[in-house]
Amino acid sequence: GVEIRLASRPEGWPTSENFTITRAAVPAVGAGQVLVRNLVMSVDPYMRGRMNDTKSYIPPFEVGTALEGGAVGEVIASESPDLAVGDVVLHGLGWREFAVVDAGNAVKVDPGLAGGAYGVFLGVLGMPGLTAYAGLLKAADFREGDVVFVSGAAGAVGSLVGQIAKLRGAAKVIGSAGSAEKVAHLKDDLGFDEAFNYKDGPVLEQLEKAAPEGIDVYFDNVAGEHLEAALSVANQGARFALCGAISQYNEKNEVVAPRNLFNAITKGMNLRGFIVAEYGDLKEQFFAEVGGWLAEGKLVARETVVEGLENAPTAFIDLMRGANTGKMLVKI
Ligand code: NDP
Repeated sequence: GVEIRLASRPEGWPTSENFTITRAAVPAVGAGQVLVRNLVMSVDPYMRGRMNDTKSYIPPFEVGTALEGGAVGEVIASESPDLAVGDVVLHGLGWREFAVVDAGNAVKVDPGLAGGAYGVFLGVLGMPGLTAYAGLLKAADFREGDVVFVSGAAGAVGSLVGQIAKLRGAAKVIGSAGSAEKVAHLKDDLGFDEAFNYKDGPVLEQLEKAAPEGIDVYFDNVAGEHLEAALSVANQGARFALCGAISQYNEKNEVVAPRNLFNAITKGMNLRGFIVAEYGDLKEQFFAEVGGWLAEGKLVARETVVEGLENAPTAFIDLMRGANTGKMLVKI
């Protein structure tokens, strides 16, 4: 089957040269394993970090071997009593057509839940959804009546943060994103109270205008200038969930912002960094509440779907350039 390998480690922005599209023999299915034909896979910003040879919370990808990541596929052969041919499973061996997965690393999903649109298990009901839910409710300790600001607001995580905040009783939700179309999507489709295009002018100026009353919560997907602006407009006792720093992932130059961290002291703020894996015990509550909202049509979960495994490297690069609205997926 076709698989995509890391050809070389990107320096700065990744290019198609960093990937090889190749054909590999499908490995034999051992005891306790299943053979999965992948149907849809995720490209995520965290994968950029795994392309570097640096120590992090998750080990780096190896040059010359297939990449990995969230995927949903159909079991086509099983050597496990726990999974049967025809089951649809979520697992961690994307970037390939066929995957041999230990049954313990595959989670059976309910195909009926999505009506065959399995992307939800990689988005709103998957890792990005839990990131939004746990990051807002736990890391940022969200409270009813908060004024909430979220960056990367039209993306997979950000779009859910804003909507969950509204559903949970935020006084006001403000989002920033990188195009006029995305700003319109936030206001018209997702119910954000205010939104701005961070490319239109300084973030601080635009945020001050959108939130003259200040902000109580900032959900940071971007870092840099966004974080600096949020520190400036934060209210006393504001809570920040530090979720991502996408403005820096492909940056070769030294990072300078935020230069005004002193605000955290004078305003008695709580800045809480987190990795979603920390909140695994929240999964059940997350499925119940977010799954409920989705079923009731109270949540919009837009997807941007790229067709064809061979286009996964482009999808990944385009994701970081902002080509996606909502969750970026590759249909295999
Ligand atoms: P998104 O769907 O939000 O896609 C990434 C988006 O980032 C792009 O669409 C683009 O939108 C935006 N972007 C790119 N460059 C910049 C920039 N310089 N400044 C501002 N925005 C930029 O991805 P996810 O929802 O999957 O992830 C969002 C963030 O959450 C990432 O930082 C990711 O690393 C983090 N994350 C953290 C997790 C954790 O456990 N802590 C788990 C999952 C994700 P635009 O057009 O608006 O620029």
